Amino acid sequence: MEHPKRPKHWPRASYDPRYDPIVDAGPGHNRDYAPTYWVDTAGPAPEDDGPVSEDMDADVVIVGSGYTGLSTAIHLARDHGIQAVVLEANKVAWGCSTRNGGQAQISSGRLKRSQWIKRWGVDVARQMHAEIAEGFELFRDLISNNGFDCDPQEGGHYYIAHKPSVIPRLEQESALLNEVFGYGSRMLSREELHEKHVIDQEAAGAMHEPDGTSIHAAKLAFGYQNLARKLGARIHPASPVMGWKIKNGVHHLTTPGGVVRARSVALATAGYTPPGLSDRTENRLMPILSNSIVTRPLSDEEKQACGFQTCSPLTDTRTLRHYYRYLPDGRVQIGSRSAITGQDAENPKHLALLKRGLARKFPALEGIDLDYSWWGWVDVSHDMMPRIFQPSSDQKIYYAMGYGGNGVMYSAQAGRRMAQLVAGQKIEVDLPIFTSQLPSHGILTPFRRIGQRVMYVWYHLQDEVF
Ligand SMILES: Cc1cc2nc3c(=O)[nH]c(=O)nc-3n(C[C@H](O)[C@H](O)[C@H](O)COP(=O)(O)OP(=O)(O)OC[C@H]3O[C@@H](n4cnc5c(N)ncnc54)[C@H](O)[C@@H]3O)c2cc1C
Repeated sequence: MEHPKRPKHWPRASYDPRYDPIVDAGPGHNRDYAPTYWVDTAGPAPEDDGPVSEDMDADVVIVGSGYTGLSTAIHLARDHGIQAVVLEANKVAWGCSTRNGGQAQISSGRLKRSQWIKRWGVDVARQMHAEIAEGFELFRDLISNNGFDCDPQEGGHYYIAHKPSVIPRLEQESALLNEVFGYGSRMLSREELHEKHVIDQEAAGAMHEPDGTSIHAAKLAFGYQNLARKLGARIHPASPVMGWKIKNGVHHLTTPGGVVRARSVALATAGYTPPGLSDRTENRLMPILSNSIVTRPLSDEEKQACGFQTCSPLTDTRTLRHYYRYLPDGRVQIGSRSAITGQDAENPKHLALLKRGLARKFPALEGIDLDYSWWGWVDVSHDMMPRIFQPSSDQKIYYAMGYGGNGVMYSAQAGRRMAQLVAGQKIEVDLPIFTSQLPSHGILTPFRRIGQRVMYVWYHLQDEVF
């Protein structure tokens, strides 16, 4: 078996690379950031409000300080005049929001437009498309009108056919996008892709969607953090919620430094949601590991061989898909599926698999030194779509989660939607993601990981063999 060279920024113990949300009691207390390219190149983290150090009262508490929690805080303050308290177990945006691939796409959840239509019919699917498009506008507006210095690279999203047999399916999806949703997607031949965009050697062609922006993940999180605090929200890192009682309608959230009492609680804990946090989220999300690597900067010859003419988001058509991109400083980032358990996350075979994936697309990068390697837990719901929901009308508890590894863009809008619910407003569009709770895994709960192992074998066969 290949034993890849250890990347320079191998995980440090304090970040706990083996953390597993299904097995462990919670995401920890004051843990270090994962050793990501983003955290290393974002500059100093902005100020926060320090750990909770005494009992306190709050109107609204948001648990989790990733994009969702911070966007909720921003919209509560900006649209409803409510200054929330954000409680974060570790550093601010410690979870997926400082570990992702930085790809903002015109989607959320794991289903395609054709699957929306099958599930909900054309009318609901059209409304869902409008919701996602509105989310993209909000995302762009937040970045450009608030001085978020997160290196946005516009240029659309390239959905790359990883083998010729998927081209007809991709052509159908593109036609449906354009005819049913009035969108402007376009098919690119392998030759056009290579000549004008990128020389991905696996590519049999691609669908180009005009909306797609690459961002610097940690700079985006820090932009959110600055804006939330400017608007009056308080952000307390190193303050994990370890206990939760409701007394006379008031929530009592226990943290190591004191109890926070609140009228309403908004959960933005995604794939890091601890098992016992709330019976409202219990067994309703499947945390899935995704890993990511970043190479050293490419030489001129390597860059030429890979033909990168864009820093836009690239993903391939595998079910176990690769997401990748050329970074503005000349490196390449690529990510995909990883281990099934936290215990196995450091197994070199997962890194080796990703390196092989990179070399298949860009043979000139075979064996290239890596400067960064990390992983994080993605929040996949049982029906592959997110929810922004109040699970019980007599309890002021809300959640926004279940993006399925597709939350960089939509978490902005999900935070806006959750703020509406917390403020007592009705969401004006009637969509299943707002009107139903996260489906439970039910009796399948104990077998989730066995099912995942079986599915990974099946997906691998579909992706690579058939
Ligand atoms: C490797 C990887 C690559 C990805 N790439 C992409 C991509 O390219 N494009 C895309 O759209 N999406 C991507 N995603 C997904 C995307 O990053 C997330 O959907 C997005 O960051 C939304 O995050 P969030 O705020 O909902 O949750 P998170 O950022 O995960 O935040 C949840 C927070 O809750 C905190 N928390 C949990 N329990 C408690 C508690 N009891 N008390 C206090 N705090 C608690 C955690 O510490 C954590 O910081 C990727 C994810 C990973 C892991």
